[in-house]
Amino acid sequence: MADEKLTDEAGRLAALKRYEVLDTPSEASFDRITDLVRSILGVPISVVSLIDQDRQWFKAKSGLAVSETPREIAFCNHTIRHRAPMLVPDAQEDERFSDSPLVTGDPNIRSYAGIPLETPDGYNIGSLCAIDTVPRHFDPHQVAILSNLAALVVEQLELRRIAERDHLTGALTRRAFLTEMNRTIALFERHQRPASVLLFDIDHFKNINDTHGHPIGDQVIRGIAELCAGLQRPSDSLGRLGGEEFAILLPETTQDDAAKAAQRFCEAIEAARLTAIPSLQVTASFGVSEIAEGYASSEIWLAAADEALYDAKRSGRNRIAVARPDAFRAA
Ligand code: GH3
Ligand code: MG
Ligand code: MG
Repeated sequence: MADEKLTDEAGRLAALKRYEVLDTPSEASFDRITDLVRSILGVPISVVSLIDQDRQWFKAKSGLAVSETPREIAFCNHTIRHRAPMLVPDAQEDERFSDSPLVTGDPNIRSYAGIPLETPDGYNIGSLCAIDTVPRHFDPHQVAILSNLAALVVEQLELRRIAERDHLTGALTRRAFLTEMNRTIALFERHQRPASVLLFDIDHFKNINDTHGHPIGDQVIRGIAELCAGLQRPSDSLGRLGGEEFAILLPETTQDDAAKAAQRFCEAIEAARLTAIPSLQVTASFGVSEIAEGYASSEIWLAAADEALYDAKRSGRNRIAVARPDAFRAA
């Protein structure tokens, strides 16, 4: 029977994109694995290579300086076409690779062992590989270790995805959202790119739970997340920061435009029917805050938005309020 997932390139790329891992900073849990490959197998280079449309990009690399190469010269691009490990004892003797710039020049690959990184649904999104600059045979014991470590890489990718998405709504978890905010702060500090955050909280949510029951409360939370995900721009991020508290990060957006966006979200929530109960109308209150000089952490920036949210609650709910400029400028 043909192994269709090995030739389904669109499905493979979609499986890779779902991990939201391309071009992210290095993470210790992956670096540890390539370090282990180097020390256990005694090779100078090990990488976690992910095969994107036109490039291989390294989530982890030990002993290698570059962070990506064109796809067509990648050894790992061959590894992902099979289920079994790919072993190249001497690249100079292998017609597929003897002319490759990775063999004739830096990093002077001479031998290679690569294990496909197979997702739980059967797509090979990349490989974990061991690379040497001299010819060598990898013995079955070493290949078995490498295979186990490759399985760990995939498990780590899965855990990473679960940790970033809230179970009930699919929105970013608080932790993942704060990470996004900190990335945005770094962009602001380096390139002065504007950005705003909307923090919002469902009004009188306790009444909804008390009157209609917790499962209906959950439906409301899920419905609001769906509504916002449908209204936001692709570059915006939605996070569930707590029980019935959400936030939306708007890159490249000044305070005035963010306030208009908040108004749109606020009105859409008021107009929506989120559950099967006709009498149940849901509203939310919004705090809007544009990033400013001195917002050195996501906590400070969120505190400014939180103060605005508190203003919106205090002045009647189902409305937006904008943070005072420089409310939380560092002393
Ligand atoms: P306010 O307008 O001031 O925001 O009032 P509120 O009642 O919404 O505020 P409060 O924060 O006091 O109540 C939030 C409630 O949300 C309390 C908690 O039991 C409930 N809650 C938290 N997480 C969940 C959840 O996942 N599902 C449901 N159904 N309820 C939740
Ligand atoms: Mg609340
Ligand atoms: Mg509330």
